[in-house]
Amino acid sequence: MNDRRLRTTAAKAAAAAPTAARCGFDDLALGGELAATIRAAGYAQPTPIQQQAIPHVLAGRDLLGCAQTGTGKTAAFALPILHRLMHAAPRPGRPIRALVLAPTRELAAQIGDSFRRYAPRGTLRCHVVFGGVGKGPQIQALRRGLDVLVATPGRLLDLMNEGRVDLRQVETFVLDEADRMLDMGFLPDVRRVTRALPRRRQTLLFSATLAAEIRTLAGGMLSDPVEVAVTPVSSTAEPIDQFVYFVDTARKTSLLIDLLRRGELDRVLVFTRTKHGANRLTQKLVRARIQADAIHGNKSQSARERALAGFRRGQTRVVVATDIAARGIDVKDLPHVVNFDLPHEPEVYVHRVGRTGRAGARGTAITLCAPGERGQLGAIERLVRRRLEILQTPDGLAPEPSRPAARSGPAYGGRSERRVRETAGGERTPRPRGRRRRGARRGVAAAR
Ligand code: AMP
Repeated sequence: MNDRRLRTTAAKAAAAAPTAARCGFDDLALGGELAATIRAAGYAQPTPIQQQAIPHVLAGRDLLGCAQTGTGKTAAFALPILHRLMHAAPRPGRPIRALVLAPTRELAAQIGDSFRRYAPRGTLRCHVVFGGVGKGPQIQALRRGLDVLVATPGRLLDLMNEGRVDLRQVETFVLDEADRMLDMGFLPDVRRVTRALPRRRQTLLFSATLAAEIRTLAGGMLSDPVEVAVTPVSSTAEPIDQFVYFVDTARKTSLLIDLLRRGELDRVLVFTRTKHGANRLTQKLVRARIQADAIHGNKSQSARERALAGFRRGQTRVVVATDIAARGIDVKDLPHVVNFDLPHEPEVYVHRVGRTGRAGARGTAITLCAPGERGQLGAIERLVRRRLEILQTPDGLAPEPSRPAARSGPAYGGRSERRVRETAGGERTPRPRGRRRRGARRGVAAAR
């Protein structure tokens, strides 16, 4: 990858994003103290989800928000919550007045960081509780009193069962990444938490998709909600270029190392399906003298945080992660995501590639697809309603028999879908039907 070119396109996209906005932060009536912290964060304009959600949250409405991570949705709820808390009369004993539930520790930690970053110094107290670390500091923080509590469901229930958390004065409850909560089997825990909340409260539910189950959940939790959506359900963000290499499973590591050595990939988050796969790949990269670290559920919280900190600082070039651990990871200006294994659920692809191309910056997602994964690739292309552009696998790494030079027709829907499955396999030669055949490009840099 041509670094300079990548940086230029990222900067251009970031600059272009605000101009698409219809109103500025001043129009959102967030108050002078918050205006200063927003300026300090470097946000020139509210993102679309912020424009749509903030006025309703300020007005005290319940809200059902359909937005992926990377759209600025944390600030869409954190800023108006902070505004409301700062302008309400203080309560004796400093009770918890806002509760945010998030599915993973990483996401909870990031939400906590955002609240602390946006809250004018000395005004409000926020603390994050999640499992995998000692309870002591969390208990102390709860004892001292908090305004905003951000939590993962398991640890929060633990602390509630020990009688250490009182949620009876919560005014605003946020359920973030509700779809992921469902996927991870957290729904019973979420219901237990909501039973401990006052009936009269404001509830904000955010989800990347609004599948039927999410609507049912929302129906039981929200009262007369406004619904806001910033991207069509299941779509990937526009500024992400999406490519695929066809390669045998056994050659994927060599291909990845080749791309890294040739400078086609800069800082990259690589997804594997399993923890062992993540460990194995990390070891191979390190042996190839590429700075790499792994993040997955078997790693301690401190090891995960160390890995992320090194990645953010640019000391670690590659982080290999499993899906659950990577959920909610927000690395500023992350240029590349690689799908080393294809996910079984196509929706997971949307979440993975959403780690790059955040907040208007450009990003590149590269998928390494083995012959046995072509069904998954087809499912992804149907879901995101676009074809991933084929890049030419370097000599010696192409699968046998050699992969197709081109595909034709859309990858989703009806007859063309069947055609793509056949051609993507490389076992049959695609016959162009109507459209001009597209040749595979030579590498990421050439494709941009
Ligand atoms: P989120 O979707 O909340 O995970 O946010 C993704 C990224 O967008 C984070 O790095 C935020 O700091 C950044 N962000 C949030 N709001 C804005 C904004 N109005 N302008 C620019 N960046 C933003």
